[in-house]
Amino acid sequence: MRLLCIVLFMLVSVVVAADKPIAIVIHGGAGTIERSQLSEQQEASIRADLKQALNAGYAALEAGQDATDAVVAAITILEDSANFNAGKGAVYTREKSHELDASIMRGSDLQAGAVAGVKYTKNPILAAQAVMLHSPHVMLSGRGADAFSKAQGLSQVENSYFDTEARLQAWEKVDEATRQKGRKEAAVSDVLDHEFKFGTVGAVAIDQNGQIVAGTSTGGMTYKAWGRIGDSPVIGAGTYADDRSCGISATGHGEYFIRYAVAHDICARVLYQNKSLQQAADEVINQTLSTVGGDGGIIGLDTQGRPVMIFNTTGMYRGFKTAEELYVAIYGDDKSVTSQ
Ligand code: ASP
Repeated sequence: MRLLCIVLFMLVSVVVAADKPIAIVIHGGAGTIERSQLSEQQEASIRADLKQALNAGYAALEAGQDATDAVVAAITILEDSANFNAGKGAVYTREKSHELDASIMRGSDLQAGAVAGVKYTKNPILAAQAVMLHSPHVMLSGRGADAFSKAQGLSQVENSYFDTEARLQAWEKVDEATRQKGRKEAAVSDVLDHEFKFGTVGAVAIDQNGQIVAGTSTGGMTYKAWGRIGDSPVIGAGTYADDRSCGISATGHGEYFIRYAVAHDICARVLYQNKSLQQAADEVINQTLSTVGGDGGIIGLDTQGRPVMIFNTTGMYRGFKTAEELYVAIYGDDKSVTSQ
């Protein structure tokens, strides 16, 4: 009798687990992204990368791996692509080097890990994951973060590994504008509004156990000051996950996302005000942030695995994969659905 009960319990667990939706949603940055800016070839390459990241993350979930593995699988692919401002292809600081930020958060127990200002860690998201799993801390920065990731056996590279011609050109444009106008900050934001102020990557996944994990990785903003840390590695600003409400990864003008605690604010509205994720995110991005001039967007999943992608810019590299659909898009009016 006891054995029968155990078998029945296991069967019910399997059925319940199988019923739980798995899903992944990703972004590759938001900003002034218009059709005139991308060649056909660039567009196809970006869409292919997004699709590859979604498929890798979703395959991990289908194989029964947890949402952390799915988020890391998707983000490392985007970090390794020069199309995005994360890992290879990261933007240049004012001093013409690269300082990378990343974070990850697990919604089942609110564990989190982050690194800020790393210069030699090939895949910052792996370092963030290692901080979450193998350190008593939540955030490590600079040399300490690189040393920790090296001690964890993670791949280290020269800082020049992150170099790309496109990001160098963006740096040169901003530098020139800054010199010409002699109005440092104004000139920088003028140019950045029309240049490469996007490309941060992020992913949110929900696994068969209903665990939601969110992660974000970035090179920050072009021409940022040495030592500047944006929202991406800040838990509650660029990344947040709580199995009771939602998981969020943000992209945009980090200073605003930090001050408005964007990722946490959205999840808090879902949890305490019983709002849908769509409504909560819409309020924060299109009302709160738009009113004060905070450009950017978020991707997220609710507890049912429903993806949400909201931005107040002209475009956001984005996509999701659920049991029903694989969707990849770039522009604001982009409706394209990619077949599985
Ligand atoms: N949020 C990033 C930062 O401020 C930049 C971005 O998402 O484009 O560092």
